[in-house]
Amino acid sequence: MDRRSFLLTPPALALGALGIPTASLAAPAAVHSTTQLLPRRGKGPRIVIAGGGWGGMTTARYLRQHIPNADVVLLERNPTFWSGPMSNKWLIDIVSTDFLNHDMLAPANRYGYTLVNTEVNAIERDKKLVRTTHGVIDYDYLVLSGGIRNAYDAWFGNDAHAAEYTRKHFPNAYVPNAEMFALKRKLKEFKGGTIVMTLPPPPHRCPPSPYERACLMAWHIKTSKIPGKIIILDPKPKIAPIGEGYKAAFEELYPDIITHVPNATVKEVDPFNKRIKTAAGDFDFDDAVLMPPHQAADMIWYADLIGKGADGKPTGWADIHPRLFTANADQDVYVVGDAMGFISDQFGHYPKSAHVAHAVGKIVAQNIAERVAGKEVVAVLPDNLCYMMVNGDPQEEISVVFEYALDPNGKVLQTQIDMDVRSADLVAKDFEWIKTRFNDFL
Ligand SMILES: Cc1cc2nc3c(=O)[nH]c(=O)nc-3n(C[C@H](O)[C@H](O)[C@H](O)COP(=O)(O)OP(=O)(O)OC[C@H]3O[C@@H](n4cnc5c(N)ncnc54)[C@H](O)[C@@H]3O)c2cc1C
Repeated sequence: MDRRSFLLTPPALALGALGIPTASLAAPAAVHSTTQLLPRRGKGPRIVIAGGGWGGMTTARYLRQHIPNADVVLLERNPTFWSGPMSNKWLIDIVSTDFLNHDMLAPANRYGYTLVNTEVNAIERDKKLVRTTHGVIDYDYLVLSGGIRNAYDAWFGNDAHAAEYTRKHFPNAYVPNAEMFALKRKLKEFKGGTIVMTLPPPPHRCPPSPYERACLMAWHIKTSKIPGKIIILDPKPKIAPIGEGYKAAFEELYPDIITHVPNATVKEVDPFNKRIKTAAGDFDFDDAVLMPPHQAADMIWYADLIGKGADGKPTGWADIHPRLFTANADQDVYVVGDAMGFISDQFGHYPKSAHVAHAVGKIVAQNIAERVAGKEVVAVLPDNLCYMMVNGDPQEEISVVFEYALDPNGKVLQTQIDMDVRSADLVAKDFEWIKTRFNDFL
């Protein structure tokens, strides 16, 4: 058989010719409601983690360390890990794609948990079952770390066409991997005009990061001498966190490029005619980064664990115990990362950051290990730290630290320290921060 005829041969025949038995080449089994995703491994508890981002991968790694006989299964829909932190810097080539994007199988094998690439599409807590596109899996403990979803319905109701048009033409790149390349290409191809950036109302993913993105996009516009402007439509009354640091960066580095508009709660978005109505006025745009409100990922809704406000309406975030991270409706389900809901009436939610997702992933693994060992669970609180680049050359960053403590009544209290003076030292600390985290779970 020459090379050409080999390539044109039907696959089964070609493999038979190579000595590989063809009888085993069956079509993939159809997924039925009873198809088991995986048999149980060993006699230890099975702990299923849904969502393999910052929170989920950390939880999986530490569960295996603390409970060596546990059957730990991580369910993730993406084939690779993509980091939110540093992704703004990647937009202007300060880090490469390889810096953000990582193989997930290597850490799964290194730490000894099972990774399954599949999408979670239902959760039946009464049966302790997770349904996925590849079958069902039962659990003793379930950890939900699905991150966020873009709640376009808050803008468009049931108008799926408007939501899809917005996603397609004005991507915001706030969910791992999806839309990141589209946004980068858009920036590289930008020839001039007005870019509008809507900020979601709090709470939302990584509060300081949209301002960082505006600075780095403005840096690109400035250094490439593009006649462009960025209008930040911010629903908050002032820039926060690190307000003074960002204000100084906007005024000193990008005075002709960035305009920050406070109190600009979005009232109406017309993506087709490129027009936005806000509480602070109406804006026409040439291009846009349109961020609708953020909510907990779909899996929290599937599990029926979304909290309710005083008005009885869904809060959009998981209803959890503020110190133990268990769902209030189900002690065997934990929520880690951005999907976590209300923590304290002093500050609301923990910052929706990778730092917190990683810290809580570690804490939850420890808490589950204590339960499995029949010990009392000791409540541990996370901390938070975010570094934000405001200048591309020389590279300079500002940052914010959050510390947490319990008051005598068990309420979680937050202290916030803004580092408003931009410096190269903070850039070095940022790279040290991410290197330490990546080395921990990747
Ligand atoms: C531009 C930007 C800059 C940022 N900068 C920083 C920073 O400097 N510092 C910082 O601390 N944080 C930063 N963040 C925030 C950080 O990325 C998030 O807080 C962090 O990723 C939250 O972790 P998580 O595990 O909750 O969610 P994610 O990391 O988003 O992981 C969720 C995972 O769940 C998967 N998933 C969701 N639904 C399903 C499903 N149904 N089935 C299977 N899998 C599913 C997703 O594919 C994803 O991999 C930034 C974010 C962005 C977008």
